[in-house]
Amino acid sequence: MHRFQTIIEPFRIHSVEPIRFTTLAQRSARLAEAGYNLFALHADDVLIDLLTDSGTGAMSRDQWAAIQHGDESYAGSPSWYRFEAAVRELFPFTHVIPTHQGRAAEKILFSVIGGPGKVVPNNTHFDTTRANVEYTGAEAVDLVIAEGKDPACLHPFKGNLDVVALEALIAARGAAAIPAVFVTITNNSGGGQPVSLANLRAVRQVCDRHGLPLFLDACRFAENAWFIHEREDGQRGRPIKDIVRDMAALADGMTMSAKKDGLANIGGWLAMNDPELAARCRNLLILTEGFPTYGGLAGRDLEAIAQGLEEVVDEQYLRYRIRSAAYLAEALERAGVPTVRPAGGHAVYLDARALLPHVPPLAYPGQALAVELYRQGGIRGCEIGTVMFGRRPDGSEAPAAMDLVRLALPRRTYTQSHMDYVIEVVTWVAARARELTGLRIVDEPPALRHFTARFTPLTPAP
Ligand SMILES: *Cc1c(COP(=O)(O)O)cnc(C)c1O
Repeated sequence: MHRFQTIIEPFRIHSVEPIRFTTLAQRSARLAEAGYNLFALHADDVLIDLLTDSGTGAMSRDQWAAIQHGDESYAGSPSWYRFEAAVRELFPFTHVIPTHQGRAAEKILFSVIGGPGKVVPNNTHFDTTRANVEYTGAEAVDLVIAEGKDPACLHPFKGNLDVVALEALIAARGAAAIPAVFVTITNNSGGGQPVSLANLRAVRQVCDRHGLPLFLDACRFAENAWFIHEREDGQRGRPIKDIVRDMAALADGMTMSAKKDGLANIGGWLAMNDPELAARCRNLLILTEGFPTYGGLAGRDLEAIAQGLEEVVDEQYLRYRIRSAAYLAEALERAGVPTVRPAGGHAVYLDARALLPHVPPLAYPGQALAVELYRQGGIRGCEIGTVMFGRRPDGSEAPAAMDLVRLALPRRTYTQSHMDYVIEVVTWVAARARELTGLRIVDEPPALRHFTARFTPLTPAP
């Protein structure tokens, strides 16, 4: 049988949502009103929204049908049992605690295990994870391998945790100061790069030597499993579910946002084997989220997640999903647009600092590029650079390690022709990058400024 090469969307469209076309003049006006901050736009004024892949995906027919089965009993709803079984089918931890999203799971867990004097290592903390660790007075330490910090380096598992650095941290601070070791799969803040099973085993061995629990921040576990399937020795041909279970078997617990690989619009959970830890977390859950059989969720949300967890480990889905990001990245590379390589699972990151060398980091090249992609093509990406990370706690400002624009891909939402349009717009803007000027911040809040800061464009040099 001939093997056809084209990887197609493994679904057909059942219900459509219009997107709204605007003119260049309208977008220029919207930008000025929004203070050149893309978070301040009305989403109706965005043509292709690549701001985030969190909660923005399309649900399937079967998920919408599952929603009709949602049972809203306060305690012991059948929807809870279906959710718990679906989670434990992939992650057989003894205790599963539902939450309204990932950060609620983090808030509860770190309230119990964090606190002053504690240190939490992770390959790279996601921003809400870091914030929840630090809020308790604990320290969040990032220990991704060196290759994971070099945008051009083509390592297959750039999300791996540096086990030598982990040993050094344990030696320096003492195992008693470390309540848990975290590994984020895939490494979102490090470009959506995967972690290998071999690396998870190595981290597990270090944890065993020092009696430390290992937790997964498992938001993109299925995408990570697919990369293992494709790239790790001896893993090709194994069912994705088995690879997920192998990852789970190496850990003592997990935090999860169902807005990512739960294929749902809201939801999350916390899971672990330790019964005492689970009891303390459930007590906090009741205080802030809800009764332990619904957490912060409606019964219908539990149903949508349970169904999503069955669909997300489908090989045809994952092949299409990972190929979509690679397709966009490869076309941009061919057009000479610098990106973080290799493409991650959920997004393509444009290297704005390399593309706009004439715009210094403190004039925000990532913001300048993101604004221009919206102005020219109605595409909304997200600056991940000096706007997001440049303001230090002491009030000073310094360039971030990189100035990137993330184009995140919502799951099952845009088609290949949408991506061809994105490629055309990015290529066109990149060819005129020399004409772009930076921006200046005219107003910013004391923390997390990227969400609400207002900017004004710097006038072009004469
Ligand atoms: C999104 C995300 C979270 C937080 O989840 P929310 O549902 O947005 O609260 C935590 N960790 C990682 C790696 C994430 O991508």
